[in-house]
Amino acid sequence: ITILGLESSCDDTAAAVVRHRPGHDPEILSSVVAGQTELHSAYGGVVPEIAARAHTEKLDLCVEEALEAAGLRLRDLDAIAVTAGPGLIGGVLAGVMTAKGLAVATGLPLVGVNHLAGHALTPRLTDGTSYPYLMLLVSGGHCQFLIAHGPDRFTRLGGTIDDAPGEAFDKTARLLGLPQPGGPSVETEARAGDPKRFRLPRPLLDRPGCDMSFSGLKTALLRERDKLVTAQGGITVKDRADLCAGFQAAVADVLAEKARRAIAEYLALSPTEPVIAVAGGVAANSAIRAALETVSAETGVRFIAPPLALCTDNAAMIAWAGIEKFRSGDTDDMTLAARPRWPLDQGAAPMLGFGK
Ligand code: ATP
Ligand code: FE
Repeated sequence: ITILGLESSCDDTAAAVVRHRPGHDPEILSSVVAGQTELHSAYGGVVPEIAARAHTEKLDLCVEEALEAAGLRLRDLDAIAVTAGPGLIGGVLAGVMTAKGLAVATGLPLVGVNHLAGHALTPRLTDGTSYPYLMLLVSGGHCQFLIAHGPDRFTRLGGTIDDAPGEAFDKTARLLGLPQPGGPSVETEARAGDPKRFRLPRPLLDRPGCDMSFSGLKTALLRERDKLVTAQGGITVKDRADLCAGFQAAVADVLAEKARRAIAEYLALSPTEPVIAVAGGVAANSAIRAALETVSAETGVRFIAPPLALCTDNAAMIAWAGIEKFRSGDTDDMTLAARPRWPLDQGAAPMLGFGK
């Protein structure tokens, strides 16, 4: 099976071709990602209207490039897969309409993919992980523990009740005058810092379950910074490194402890080859990875971290999720709707229609 995937739900326009022949490992024949960071940098966040326009301008070029890099033509494909949500609706619509146009022109089936399912199925693309496995999705917009039972069947064990960790890293960087994206700059600062100097909270660890909270951490950090400013008139390089290290350690501790609880729930299913996998940009953080590796070693559950380019937004994961859905006979038609919200544990995309 060879599928073209399209992704345009946030600020990356992407197209990719993935092939899977029975008995072989899946092959990523091409994966094109066109970012929009510079278009939004002046606004301090992604501007939906600007993102939607840029997707509309770049999608067909990305498709052309992905096909060319794969050395294929549209007629060599078996289906067109596209992110149908969740995400910024203008971007999702741009992708869905492009995919519908391609499907009409070629007669190929259309497969609407949940963006989060794309992230969650990545370990199957990269490592052939078998169901059921445990997944930690941790990015700028998301943070949740999921058990993947099948291409369209996920159980959500818990997630953040406020900010996602990536968002907290970005806000922390802003509070400390560090460049965006905040994750890598906070991590770099933290290397020289003492994680124990500031006693930052570990929110919700006193509560059972896998829910998390990260917005209080940022508030606590702000309070520590302001105390230093009042006492000394500013913060030193050392203070900043210690604040970054303290913040990062708090996030890592929370994720590790909640991972222990998620693993306990997951192991109750008696998986034959237990796996915990990560996806999302925050999975790049080495302190967080190390904390999760420790938990993995403690519990005997294998830890899988796909290559970073497949952890952040890309279309190879959408093409792969498309292959899995296509194979289970789960395709869509012209009624495929673009959905701004689409929780992962809620099954297939609904039909397009008013009042739904
Ligand atoms: P989503 O894909 O869930 O809608 P997104 O596009 O913001 O959200 P990603 O592209 O997966 O998410 O990841 C970007 C986020 O990851 C940013 O918030 C960034 O700060 C964070 N991040 C990147 N590298 C690191 C790192 N080394 N440490 C911590 N956070 C990081
Ligand atoms: Fe994403």
